[in-house]
Amino acid sequence: MDSTYRNILKWGDKREEKIAPRMIQLIREKFGYNDDTLKHRHLPGLEQVKLEKKPALEPRQLDFIRSVVGDDDILTDDCSRARFSCGKFYGELLDLRLGRVASPPDAVVSPGSHDEVEHIIRFCSSEHIPVIPVGGQSSVTGALQAPEGGIALDLAKHLNRVLSISTVNKTVTVEAGISGPSLEAELNRRGYTCGHFPQSFEYSTAGGWIAARGAGQASTGYGKIEDMVVALRVVTPAGVIETKDYPRTAQGWDLFRLFMGSEGTLGVITEATLRIHNHNPLDTASAAFIFRSFEQAVETMRKVMQSEYGKPHLFRISDPEETDIAFKTGGSDNSFSDKLLRRLGFLPGERCLMFVTVEGEKDYNLFVLKKIRHTARKGRGMYIGTGPVKKWLDQRYSSAYIRDPLMDLGIMTDTLETAVTWESLMKVWSSARAYVKKRPKTVFMVHISHVYENGANLYFTFLSPMEKGNEQDDFATFHSGLVDTILKNGGSLSHHHGVGRVLAPWMEGHLGESSMRALKAIKRHFDPGNIMNPGGTLGLTQEKNEIIR
Ligand SMILES: Cc1cc2nc3c(=O)[nH]c(=O)nc-3n(C[C@H](O)[C@H](O)[C@H](O)COP(=O)(O)OP(=O)(O)OC[C@H]3O[C@@H](n4cnc5c(N)ncnc54)[C@H](O)[C@@H]3O)c2cc1C
Repeated sequence: MDSTYRNILKWGDKREEKIAPRMIQLIREKFGYNDDTLKHRHLPGLEQVKLEKKPALEPRQLDFIRSVVGDDDILTDDCSRARFSCGKFYGELLDLRLGRVASPPDAVVSPGSHDEVEHIIRFCSSEHIPVIPVGGQSSVTGALQAPEGGIALDLAKHLNRVLSISTVNKTVTVEAGISGPSLEAELNRRGYTCGHFPQSFEYSTAGGWIAARGAGQASTGYGKIEDMVVALRVVTPAGVIETKDYPRTAQGWDLFRLFMGSEGTLGVITEATLRIHNHNPLDTASAAFIFRSFEQAVETMRKVMQSEYGKPHLFRISDPEETDIAFKTGGSDNSFSDKLLRRLGFLPGERCLMFVTVEGEKDYNLFVLKKIRHTARKGRGMYIGTGPVKKWLDQRYSSAYIRDPLMDLGIMTDTLETAVTWESLMKVWSSARAYVKKRPKTVFMVHISHVYENGANLYFTFLSPMEKGNEQDDFATFHSGLVDTILKNGGSLSHHHGVGRVLAPWMEGHLGESSMRALKAIKRHFDPGNIMNPGGTLGLTQEKNEIIR
């Protein structure tokens, strides 16, 4: 088995992805790389994993857990502990490249049933052992670190089945560790889809989607994960919460909603019931448009969302820089069609691409798409066919593999995202751009991909050469300045990645002290001993072993 840091840090199936020649050309142009710098591999993480921190659990504690899950499902070796010490946050990947594992759990435990989870949580509560629920480990917010040790509770290994599909209620009940492909395969076979397609789809789980409050690429039509959940089964230190699958109730609060976005701090989600939809992929209608400016594209998007003639499922705008890079890396820059576009006033540095799909019954899709085309035309957009959307859909999961080879070249590459109202969108976008462009040699691509009647999200991707020898501090300073800029100009702290430990320092300032006190009271009720994902997640605790007040 490959026990290098590199094997842990790499995305997905761990393949060694190559950067395409057109992207290499862009790196030469933007960052001044030459043949020599392109040959050098920066911090590849090829060393064998070795942890300084010894496991802190006592033999009798390990024996008890072993008696619950069996010998094969409790691991204490360095490699497993390192593997479960992090997600895919850029700072964590850098740490691994530097041979650092700051916050490993003491053991990795893979329960085989809801009942086993209950036994473990009861035992860990009585012994004050921290528990970090783990799904697909695709967190980008530092939400899986174990600064106080304890156990990483691996839900994905065994708790990964579809339990039932109700075609009468149009719901599916799953175990929390099920991955996107397993869930969709089972649903598609029966003619349904869940409609949740994050870019991490292949390597994330239903429990993680719910706990981090994620959004899929077709969220404009299907909603975020919180719009899909109808019931949950959760093991908390204060007992099991099992909610029923009623369509709506008025019985006080909907308790299950407290666990959406709880990031493992309240309990372990073991089962979820989700809404499902008819799956008619062959009837999906799609269209790509180009606009002369970001403002025109955004205004058209707002009009589509507020028209009430039906909503797209995938709805996406790339800002001018992202559009230019799509033209360059897609090979259309300076092509015959590009020259024609320029002649028509769709200029590099200004033009923006918009992608749309509408899913459902064919008649409905064609009707909605016709309306969208009409709105786009009125907004001075031009229809450019369906090809660009199909091309984008084909690479929508594989593009995640590019980050590792970019980091190999010493290029800092990370993302941030925020929710904005239509009124604040342009201000957040332009101030974030202005902030990033103060740093020399940056690529800053922005898109909108989750859209609502009253606003949307903005998704930022930045690339810039690392400051060699000072990679972590340079990144932390740059990143924190961007978060400050987004918040100061009216963006939310997160739209769908969650908060974790990375954004936790901004929580109280963003939500306000009394809201934070309410969150802490909820935490105190479900987890009085502070064993669930302790040590800063969501800004609930900062200090080691702090009891939440
Ligand atoms: C390349 C890439 C692309 C991404 N694209 C998207 C995207 O398009 N949309 C999006 O929303 N996010 C995206 N993300 C972020 C990430 O995939 C999501 O946050 C996802 O929902 C996490 O799911 P997971 O199963 O990997 O959870 P993990 O990373 O394992 O855990 C995430 C959080 O949930 C908690 N948790 C996990 N399972 C449970 C459970 N059963 N009970 C209680 N708590 C639990 C953990 O403790 C942790 O706090 C992306 C990440 C990467 C690396």
